[in-house]
Amino acid sequence: MHAFICTTCGTQYAPSVVPPASCRICTEERQYVPVTGQGWATLEALALRHVIGWRQAEPGILGLCAEPAFAIGQRALLLRTPHGNVLWDCIAPLDAATVTLINALGGLDAIAISHPHFYTSMVAWAHAFSVKVHVHAADREFVMRPDPVIAHWDGETKELLPGVTLIRCGGHFPGGTVLHWGRDGGRGILCSGDILTVTPDRKFVSFMRSYPNLVPLDRTTVEGIAAALAPFDYDTIYGHASDRFIATGAKQAMAASVVRYIAAIGG
Ligand SMILES: [Zn+2]
Repeated sequence: MHAFICTTCGTQYAPSVVPPASCRICTEERQYVPVTGQGWATLEALALRHVIGWRQAEPGILGLCAEPAFAIGQRALLLRTPHGNVLWDCIAPLDAATVTLINALGGLDAIAISHPHFYTSMVAWAHAFSVKVHVHAADREFVMRPDPVIAHWDGETKELLPGVTLIRCGGHFPGGTVLHWGRDGGRGILCSGDILTVTPDRKFVSFMRSYPNLVPLDRTTVEGIAAALAPFDYDTIYGHASDRFIATGAKQAMAASVVRYIAAIGG
């Protein structure tokens, strides 16, 4: 039995003797099956082909990414808060070196994930570090490896640790979640995945129902995202990849982005 991993999106499935017939995530309208067909891998195979690269975004925040890139190039962030370490989003590979290094930094106290395209090998990660994975209940149907480590949260916000709050924004997925870290005496940080996508110029964010298939969100949904974030102060947004971040002035950039987006789809 292997817990097979889709090579297009990185989603790991419940253990089976033969791979699943298809990938639920990739056959859904927001993703795609490549013209070369469905492919499958295992954690053991990925460990032979990829290493996990670390980049420090800033003191206290480390990015983890498969190198060479795998699946949709997911990046996870290790947030080293005064009240414990949080893994924000997840990546498909997990190797012994990464387990050793994270344990040397104090292990993990929680895993939280923005939306199904980052669920990847979340159950394997949770087992390795004996923690829960917090995912919004609205996206329950996209959990392909059910396990007692998965904690479905409901409602609009959830305090994960002191100062660390999960905020449901919806949009890209009904349970689309971002993480706010209000650092003691310091500036607030928003980890947005691609619920808010930081644009390549690092000056704006944008909003889509499907990124690969280019389906935008409607005005009401984007205004709902803005309303969900309005109570929170933040200066930096970390998006879904290491080169997608707004270093400072992010709350103002978010406000300007909402105005720009609504003008664009309404004009
Ligand atoms: Zn897939």
